[in-house]
Amino acid sequence: MEKTKIVIANWKMCPVSIEGAKELFSAVQRTCSPKISAEVVVAPPFVYLTELVRLARSFGRGKNLRLGAQDCFWEQAGAYTGEVSPEILKTLGATHVLIGHSERRRYLKETDEMAQKKLAAALRIGIIPILCVGEDKSVRRKGLASAKQFVKKQLLTALRSVSQSGTRHELLVAYEPVWAISSVSGGKSDTPEEAVAMILWIKQLLGAHPFRLATRVLYGGSVNMKNAAGFMELEAIDGALVGDASLRAQEFCVIVKIASSFS
Ligand code: PEP
Repeated sequence: MEKTKIVIANWKMCPVSIEGAKELFSAVQRTCSPKISAEVVVAPPFVYLTELVRLARSFGRGKNLRLGAQDCFWEQAGAYTGEVSPEILKTLGATHVLIGHSERRRYLKETDEMAQKKLAAALRIGIIPILCVGEDKSVRRKGLASAKQFVKKQLLTALRSVSQSGTRHELLVAYEPVWAISSVSGGKSDTPEEAVAMILWIKQLLGAHPFRLATRVLYGGSVNMKNAAGFMELEAIDGALVGDASLRAQEFCVIVKIASSFS
């Protein structure tokens, strides 16, 4: 298992101007010097990708900083109004894409079957998928065993079409208990110990499958500069998906440095 930690910034539908996006990205760039050994992926809204890729290229250092998208469609091109394909993302210079984020499941009714098609499309074109899984509060209330079964279904359904492929694919899985995401929890995260229990379960499920995947499993849900070390210090947790705190440049840079110190 790779030791380098990875930190992913999910900017969601923020900032509201390209100037704000450039300013935030520049701060992350300054932090991602060659001294930083953690990998960093920034996932801005689609419309900022071109400009941020240009900034990243002109800056010319920090191979550990890459750009990702927050979603993609499952076809590569065609009459799909409003959608963005993995192929378009690749052409723009994105290397990663979030798939099945709980906010898309909640507001846009995305299903595990849709995640499956998106994941397969991303892998086909060579974009690294970051598959988001995680139970909501009603499931968690029934206990860890129920939560594990819920996550198992999300994971195995999304990976179904990968199992038919013989090539080795790179894939990230983000365990994000919905009840711990800051917009739901008001900033209260899962505990590192409970997150690890689920992450080890996800790793066990991935390990039991015949398809050839290079998979790292991250934790997401109210990670901030105060609690980041508690997650990063655990060997089983390969990194973090950070939402709210990734919009505060200084705080996000502290999280990156913490991740780097455990890489
Ligand atoms: C997310 O929604 O992916 C996320 C991790 O958000 P937050 O860090 O704000 O909980």
